[in-house]
Amino acid sequence: MLVFKFGGASVKNADAVRNVARIISNYPNQKLIVVVSAMGKTTNALENVVDALWNKDKSRFNGYIDEIATYHISILKDLSLPENHPSFIKIIDLFEKLKNRFEERKLENYNYEYDQVVSLGEILSTIIVEAHLNSSIKSNWLDCRKLIQTDALHRNANVVWNTTEKLVVKNLIPQLNKYDCIVTQGFIGCSSDNSTTTLGREGSDYTAGILAYCVNAESVTIWKDVPGMLNADPKIFKNTKKLGNISFREAIELSYYGASVIHPKTVKPLQNKQITLYVKSFIQPNESGTKIDSNMDYDHLIPSFIMKQKQILFSVSSKDFSFIIEENLSDIFAIISKLGLKINLMQNSALSFSFALDREKVNLSMLLSTLNKNYTTKYNDDLELVTIRHYDQKTINLVTNKKEIILAQKTRHTARFLMKPY
Ligand code: ASP
Ligand code: MG
Repeated sequence: MLVFKFGGASVKNADAVRNVARIISNYPNQKLIVVVSAMGKTTNALENVVDALWNKDKSRFNGYIDEIATYHISILKDLSLPENHPSFIKIIDLFEKLKNRFEERKLENYNYEYDQVVSLGEILSTIIVEAHLNSSIKSNWLDCRKLIQTDALHRNANVVWNTTEKLVVKNLIPQLNKYDCIVTQGFIGCSSDNSTTTLGREGSDYTAGILAYCVNAESVTIWKDVPGMLNADPKIFKNTKKLGNISFREAIELSYYGASVIHPKTVKPLQNKQITLYVKSFIQPNESGTKIDSNMDYDHLIPSFIMKQKQILFSVSSKDFSFIIEENLSDIFAIISKLGLKINLMQNSALSFSFALDREKVNLSMLLSTLNKNYTTKYNDDLELVTIRHYDQKTINLVTNKKEIILAQKTRHTARFLMKPY
């Protein structure tokens, strides 16, 4: 049993959907679980719909929906499905229901509304992809909300593993006995009170990992528009190299530091069951891509570079110049956690505690006013954070050249530099 995940770019138009079908047809004797994201930039477009809904702007709301509807229906038509194909009716019905949300009820909770609306992207894409696949293979559409049970933390829901495992056995395994290919949605789940939840942006990879874990799949393949996992983001670094084989551990480290090729939560369930993960190109599906398994032999061969731009570094000290002690640290962490912020780098000294955050995620006045009740806070903006895995002096010189180092940290395999461009 194999699990495939196709992201938005791999299903962005009819040609792309046909390409997905071609890739699937290369695996004729396998049972496949195919996890699909929303088409192209649909998730962003649906975020605009939520915004218009929340702000009670009916003309924007309807306008965005019409655009999304036209886009999906034109893909269906380009796939030459007959006009009376049930998928047309299903899709038109979904858009009608979405439009009705505007008048229907009082809005109470933004994140709840978000999940009910944004999850539609995956529902639409899977209906279309499955409709196309069905003409050539024995496929079936399955609602992932019948498989993945989560808590009710909307927009960032946590999987309830034991229920999910039971649901997969009950609702997915029998389907795999009947059909060769099951098409289901990435990114979405269902809470115990039966409302749709989402796993966080880019969460479809994680869905593939969850389902693979529950069915004990042989492997997972994430099909991307890059040849595999690269040792750096080609938009930022020159001469990038493909990582041919890395370990689960290395993949977790890289995604933790910010490598964006795979969703950070994806690898852990696969590592627990030793399920190989491939990252491959949907443009050149016969190329080897990257293989991620328990083999650590190749991890150190190619240094990896991860860049996070637009960092802001805070430095917190006590008002009376006393030491920053454990009590202060736990207080500062509580503030950061309460504001939902994620620390990218931290360091403490006798008199201060420093931490770097993504600038765009920080409400600066709120954070400062909270911290400054008990502390004095300084900050340094417009920094960049570079992490090098498997560094040496040459790679350090390369990334720190012409930059002022504000903070540096090194462990055996990882060097990190928070820097200001001169
Ligand atoms: N469609 C969702 C997003 O764009 C989930 C995913 O693509 O993985 O964030
Ligand atoms: Mg996407």
